[in-house]
Amino acid sequence: MKEIKPKFLLDENLNRLARWLRMLGYDAAVYKSVSIHNKVRLAKKERRIYLTRSKKTAKLKEEFSRFLISEVDHQQQLGELRQFLKFNDDFIFTRCIECNKKIEKISKEKIKEIIPPYIYETFIEFTICRKCGKVYWQGSHYASMKRQLKNMLTI
Ligand SMILES: [Zn+2]
Repeated sequence: MKEIKPKFLLDENLNRLARWLRMLGYDAAVYKSVSIHNKVRLAKKERRIYLTRSKKTAKLKEEFSRFLISEVDHQQQLGELRQFLKFNDDFIFTRCIECNKKIEKISKEKIKEIIPPYIYETFIEFTICRKCGKVYWQGSHYASMKRQLKNMLTI
């Protein structure tokens, strides 16, 4: 059975948290320069949970899924969302950290020109974001990031 993952919409001041959610594989949209009214409309339309630090937004009478983030530190913010999140090896690093799009596998020959030679020689699997062109690989950073993500959700 396919697992249904919650989707999120975050205020711009929660951009850091959005990046962490994307690392975990969650669809975390940040719409820039959009009014609160329109964000609420989008959250409803796209079935997203609206994450905000604004008490005013959290208290709006309109009916929509929302969650008030009270922590300032992004790691603790992630902890606040524990009820919605699950660490899953298959999900992590499947989205572009920058633009929230799903990333795709790409053969290393195709990106040879745009990655450092050392990286090209060392790693085998690469993924790319078709929107911004960012290339990802599972470098030494990968294992420690993974551990950190796991810890944050299991504290
Ligand atoms: Zn991207």
